Amino acid sequence: MSYTPAPPSLEGACHCGAVRLTLPAAPDEALSCNCSLCRRSGGIWAFYAFGTVAIQGHPGNTEEYIWGDRTLRNVRCRTCGIVTHWEPLDRTPGARHGVNLRNFEPALVDALVVRRFDGAETWTFLD
Ligand SMILES: [Zn+2]
Repeated sequence: MSYTPAPPSLEGACHCGAVRLTLPAAPDEALSCNCSLCRRSGGIWAFYAFGTVAIQGHPGNTEEYIWGDRTLRNVRCRTCGIVTHWEPLDRTPGARHGVNLRNFEPALVDALVVRRFDGAETWTFLD
């Protein structure tokens, strides 16, 4: 008999569980970025259309950080400090929205190719 492991859960949470995210589908691709912010948080990012990821505990349990050209709100848990996602300041449905896959089961990331993105300088992929 062949054994098919259960697919990784699409539900994730920050370390303390105050912020919970549910993806609409498993990501096909993810990236790690070397910009001044991402290299510090160490996030692995997947992208979805804004409004398609269900997020509980936000904004009630979150804090935000806005920098640079002020297009994004970087969101972290108010209690445990873990970066969960970023969202566009212009909250147009369908706008791009980033989710930190580090908040999900490791198997979700293990199944992906994580591409290296040069957000620090060229805004191109390094691989
Ligand atoms: Zn937390």
